[in-house]
Amino acid sequence: MKILKYLLAICITAMSLFAQPTKKIAFTFDDGPKSKITEEILEVLRENDAKATFFILGVNGKRHPKILEKIHEEGHQIANHSYNHPNLKKLPMSDVKKELESTNKIITGVTNKKVVYFRPPYGALGKAQKEELKKNLGMESVMWNISPKDWEKPSDKDYIAKFLVENAKDKGIVLLHDYGKTAQALKVVLPQLKARGFEFVTIEELNKK
Ligand SMILES: [Zn+2]
Repeated sequence: MKILKYLLAICITAMSLFAQPTKKIAFTFDDGPKSKITEEILEVLRENDAKATFFILGVNGKRHPKILEKIHEEGHQIANHSYNHPNLKKLPMSDVKKELESTNKIITGVTNKKVVYFRPPYGALGKAQKEELKKNLGMESVMWNISPKDWEKPSDKDYIAKFLVENAKDKGIVLLHDYGKTAQALKVVLPQLKARGFEFVTIEELNKK
Protein backbone atom coordinates (compact mmCIF):
# COMPACT_ATOMS: atom_id res chain seq x y z
CA MET A 1 0.00 0.00 0.00
CA LYS A 2 2.80 2.35 0.94
CA ILE A 3 4.49 1.85 -2.42
CA LEU A 4 1.21 2.51 -4.24
CA LYS A 5 0.73 5.75 -2.37
CA TYR A 6 4.29 6.71 -3.14
CA LEU A 7 3.83 6.00 -6.87
CA LEU A 8 0.59 7.95 -6.88
CA ALA A 9 2.31 10.92 -5.33
CA ILE A 10 5.02 10.81 -8.01
CA CYS A 11 2.37 10.65 -10.76
CA ILE A 12 0.48 13.62 -9.36
CA THR A 13 3.66 15.67 -9.07
CA ALA A 14 4.67 14.83 -12.64
CA MET A 15 1.21 15.64 -13.96
CA SER A 16 1.09 18.99 -12.22
CA LEU A 17 4.48 19.85 -13.70
CA PHE A 18 3.31 19.12 -17.23
CA ALA A 19 -0.09 20.70 -16.74
CA GLN A 20 1.42 24.03 -15.75
CA PRO A 21 2.39 25.96 -18.87
CA THR A 22 4.64 28.95 -18.24
CA LYS A 23 2.84 32.21 -17.93
CA LYS A 24 4.60 35.03 -19.71
CA ILE A 25 4.48 38.62 -18.53
CA ALA A 26 6.22 41.69 -19.94
CA PHE A 27 7.29 44.40 -17.52
CA THR A 28 7.87 47.73 -19.25
CA PHE A 29 9.52 50.88 -17.88
CA ASP A 30 8.80 54.28 -19.41
CA ASP A 31 10.56 57.66 -19.38
CA GLY A 32 14.12 56.56 -18.50
CA PRO A 33 16.94 55.94 -18.47
CA LYS A 34 17.63 57.73 -15.20
CA SER A 35 20.79 57.62 -13.14
CA LYS A 36 20.67 55.34 -10.07
CA ILE A 37 16.97 54.37 -10.36
CA THR A 38 17.29 52.56 -13.69
CA GLU A 39 20.35 50.78 -12.33
CA GLU A 40 18.40 49.82 -9.24
CA ILE A 41 15.69 48.33 -11.46
CA LEU A 42 18.33 46.46 -13.48
CA GLU A 43 19.66 44.96 -10.28
CA VAL A 44 16.25 43.65 -9.17
CA LEU A 45 15.66 42.20 -12.64
CA ARG A 46 19.06 40.49 -12.59
CA GLU A 47 18.41 38.95 -9.16
CA ASN A 48 15.18 37.40 -10.47
CA ASP A 49 16.34 36.24 -13.93
CA ALA A 50 13.87 38.71 -15.38
CA LYS A 51 13.98 40.39 -18.78
CA ALA A 52 12.06 43.61 -19.40
CA THR A 53 11.52 46.38 -21.92
CA PHE A 54 12.62 49.98 -21.42
CA PHE A 55 10.65 52.55 -23.40
CA ILE A 56 13.21 55.32 -23.26
CA LEU A 57 13.02 59.01 -24.00
CA GLY A 58 15.62 60.13 -26.54
CA VAL A 59 16.55 63.09 -24.34
CA ASN A 60 17.35 60.78 -21.41
CA GLY A 61 19.12 58.20 -23.57
CA LYS A 62 21.43 60.91 -24.83
CA ARG A 63 22.11 62.04 -21.27
CA HIS A 64 22.86 58.51 -19.96
CA PRO A 65 24.52 56.46 -22.74
CA LYS A 66 26.30 54.18 -20.23
CA ILE A 67 23.04 53.10 -18.62
CA LEU A 68 21.56 52.50 -22.05
CA GLU A 69 24.46 50.19 -22.86
CA LYS A 70 23.98 48.38 -19.57
CA ILE A 71 20.29 47.78 -20.30
CA HIS A 72 21.23 46.25 -23.63
CA GLU A 73 24.15 44.20 -22.31
CA GLU A 74 21.96 42.65 -19.65
CA GLY A 75 19.59 41.30 -22.31
CA HIS A 76 16.69 43.70 -21.98
CA GLN A 77 14.88 45.33 -24.86
CA ILE A 78 15.18 49.04 -25.55
CA ALA A 79 12.17 50.60 -27.25
CA ASN A 80 11.06 54.10 -28.21
CA HIS A 81 8.93 56.46 -26.08
CA SER A 82 9.60 59.59 -28.24
CA TYR A 83 12.37 62.16 -27.74
CA ASN A 84 10.73 64.82 -25.55
CA HIS A 85 7.51 63.15 -24.36
CA PRO A 86 4.99 65.30 -26.27
CA ASN A 87 1.38 64.34 -26.96
CA LEU A 88 1.88 62.93 -30.48
CA LYS A 89 -1.80 63.43 -31.30
CA LYS A 90 -1.24 67.18 -31.23
CA LEU A 91 1.75 67.15 -33.58
CA PRO A 92 1.92 67.15 -37.38
CA MET A 93 3.18 63.88 -38.85
CA SER A 94 6.56 65.36 -39.75
CA ASP A 95 7.22 66.20 -36.09
CA VAL A 96 5.96 62.81 -34.90
CA LYS A 97 8.46 61.14 -37.21
CA LYS A 98 11.26 63.41 -35.95
CA GLU A 99 10.43 62.46 -32.36
CA LEU A 100 10.62 58.76 -33.16
CA GLU A 101 13.50 58.76 -35.63
CA SER A 102 15.85 60.83 -33.46
CA THR A 103 15.24 58.39 -30.59
CA ASN A 104 15.63 55.36 -32.86
CA LYS A 105 19.06 56.67 -33.81
CA ILE A 106 20.17 56.75 -30.17
CA ILE A 107 18.84 53.23 -29.53
CA THR A 108 20.33 51.74 -32.70
CA GLY A 109 23.68 53.32 -31.79
CA VAL A 110 23.70 50.96 -28.81
CA THR A 111 21.87 47.87 -30.08
CA ASN A 112 22.78 47.86 -33.79
CA LYS A 113 19.21 46.73 -34.43
CA LYS A 114 16.23 48.36 -36.09
CA VAL A 115 13.76 49.66 -33.52
CA VAL A 116 10.30 48.26 -34.12
CA TYR A 117 8.36 49.04 -30.97
CA PHE A 118 7.30 52.39 -29.56
CA ARG A 119 4.87 53.56 -26.92
CA PRO A 120 3.24 56.95 -27.48
CA PRO A 121 3.45 59.24 -24.42
CA TYR A 122 0.13 59.19 -22.48
CA GLY A 123 -0.91 56.34 -24.79
CA ALA A 124 -2.10 59.10 -27.14
CA LEU A 125 -2.00 58.18 -30.81
CA GLY A 126 -4.46 58.74 -33.66
CA LYS A 127 -5.62 55.82 -35.78
CA ALA A 128 -4.27 57.41 -38.97
CA GLN A 129 -0.96 58.18 -37.22
CA LYS A 130 -0.68 54.58 -36.09
CA GLU A 131 -1.22 53.29 -39.62
CA GLU A 132 1.17 55.76 -41.18
CA LEU A 133 3.96 54.96 -38.72
CA LYS A 134 3.52 51.27 -39.41
CA LYS A 135 3.60 51.87 -43.16
CA ASN A 136 6.42 54.43 -43.32
CA LEU A 137 8.70 53.57 -40.43
CA GLY A 138 7.72 49.92 -39.90
CA MET A 139 6.99 50.75 -36.27
CA GLU A 140 4.37 49.22 -33.99
CA SER A 141 2.77 50.94 -31.03
CA VAL A 142 2.65 49.04 -27.74
CA MET A 143 0.09 49.87 -25.07
CA TRP A 144 -0.47 47.91 -21.82
CA ASN A 145 -3.11 45.86 -19.98
CA ILE A 146 -1.86 46.08 -16.37
CA SER A 147 -1.10 49.38 -14.64
CA PRO A 148 -0.91 50.27 -10.93
CA LYS A 149 -0.64 53.93 -12.10
CA ASP A 150 2.68 54.35 -10.36
CA TRP A 151 2.71 58.05 -11.32
CA GLU A 152 -0.18 59.02 -9.03
CA LYS A 153 -1.57 58.52 -5.53
CA PRO A 154 -2.25 56.14 -3.81
CA SER A 155 0.51 54.35 -5.68
CA ASP A 156 3.22 54.00 -3.05
CA LYS A 157 5.50 50.96 -3.04
CA ASP A 158 3.11 48.77 -1.02
CA TYR A 159 0.15 49.65 -3.24
CA ILE A 160 2.18 48.93 -6.40
CA ALA A 161 3.36 45.57 -5.03
CA LYS A 162 -0.13 44.49 -3.93
CA PHE A 163 -1.68 45.59 -7.24
CA LEU A 164 0.85 43.68 -9.33
CA VAL A 165 0.64 40.50 -7.27
CA GLU A 166 -3.16 40.56 -7.57
CA ASN A 167 -3.40 41.53 -11.23
CA ALA A 168 -0.53 39.64 -12.88
CA LYS A 169 -1.75 37.46 -15.75
CA ASP A 170 -0.45 35.47 -18.68
CA LYS A 171 0.43 37.71 -21.66
CA GLY A 172 0.24 40.74 -19.40
CA ILE A 173 2.00 43.96 -20.37
CA VAL A 174 2.76 45.96 -17.24
CA LEU A 175 3.14 49.72 -17.48
CA LEU A 176 5.65 51.08 -14.96
CA HIS A 177 8.13 53.94 -14.75
CA ASP A 178 11.72 54.39 -13.63
CA TYR A 179 10.76 55.45 -10.10
CA GLY A 180 12.43 54.51 -6.80
CA LYS A 181 9.16 53.25 -5.26
CA THR A 182 8.57 51.06 -8.32
CA ALA A 183 12.04 49.52 -7.97
CA GLN A 184 11.26 48.82 -4.28
CA ALA A 185 7.93 47.20 -5.18
CA LEU A 186 9.63 44.92 -7.72
CA LYS A 187 11.78 43.43 -4.97
CA VAL A 188 8.58 42.03 -3.45
CA VAL A 189 6.67 41.29 -6.65
CA LEU A 190 9.18 39.44 -8.83
CA PRO A 191 10.04 36.59 -6.40
CA GLN A 192 6.32 36.01 -5.72
CA LEU A 193 5.34 35.87 -9.38
CA LYS A 194 8.33 33.68 -10.16
CA ALA A 195 7.17 31.20 -7.54
CA ARG A 196 3.76 31.17 -9.24
CA GLY A 197 5.35 30.12 -12.54
CA PHE A 198 5.64 33.47 -14.30
CA GLU A 199 8.41 34.09 -16.79
CA PHE A 200 9.46 37.73 -17.25
CA VAL A 201 9.99 38.46 -20.92
CA THR A 202 10.54 41.35 -23.33
CA ILE A 203 7.81 42.68 -25.65
CA GLU A 204 9.65 41.09 -28.56
CA GLU A 205 9.58 37.71 -26.82
CA LEU A 206 5.93 38.09 -25.78
CA ASN A 207 4.90 38.79 -29.38
CA LYS A 208 6.70 35.74 -30.77
CA LYS A 209 4.20 33.32 -32.24
ZN1 LIG B 1 5.83 58.47 -20.48
